[in-house]
Amino acid sequence: MNKINLQGIGMTSQRTRSRLVERLSEEGIQNQDVLNVIASTPRHVFVDEAISHRAYEDTALPIGLGQTISQPFIVARMTELLLQFPTINKVLEIGTGSGYQTAVLAQMFDEIYSIERIQALQQKAKRLLRQLGLTNVKYHYGDGFAGWPTDEKFDGIIVTAAPDVVPQALLEQLADGGVLIIPVGGQHDVQTLQMIQRQGDDFEYHSLEKVRFVPLVAGTL
Ligand code: SAH
Repeated sequence: MNKINLQGIGMTSQRTRSRLVERLSEEGIQNQDVLNVIASTPRHVFVDEAISHRAYEDTALPIGLGQTISQPFIVARMTELLLQFPTINKVLEIGTGSGYQTAVLAQMFDEIYSIERIQALQQKAKRLLRQLGLTNVKYHYGDGFAGWPTDEKFDGIIVTAAPDVVPQALLEQLADGGVLIIPVGGQHDVQTLQMIQRQGDDFEYHSLEKVRFVPLVAGTL
């Protein structure tokens, strides 16, 4: 895993970041490592300057092209769910978006693979993460429905946009003992966060809380 390089980022927002972390903790995030990483990740650089004053509110914000940076609570929650499994090192993320969740993951796990279907977002996120010194991330511009383009297996897969049904390719790319965390319910206003554990050829489904994500869309842009 990598440590973030805050040089030239400006630490003026450390206090507002701490306030966000307190709030996440009150809302039920218990994992101290996750809270520490949120405290050290400058979310304001992942959104447009015009709305950067809102970056430490616990809310999703627009990042252009009809997409949003996920709400910090859900980023923390999904990361915390993965961390329950101490053997997870290699994580696939579908929906790079702004790269914020990617940056959090890159500070917690050894190897991150991230897929985005909108090239402009992907390029921006890639540039930003390199600038932050997070070098343990591989990027792919493509359709997450198809999974990672080479024959890889992942200990953890996290999907930050919602399909109607769980994509088959993602189930296939789960390593034995691996876990997939995915909001299911596509175009609907409210989706259910599902946690799916693979044991050999068995997939055990757990339905968690209701969530709200942008839809997982097929094809690239
Ligand atoms: N974790 C991101 C969330 C961005 S919103 C963040 O916090 O910034 C979800 C992202 O998923 C969007 O950028 C959207 O373009 C992307 N996405 C939607 N469908 C996709 C697909 N089929 N494959 C890859 N990315 C997809």
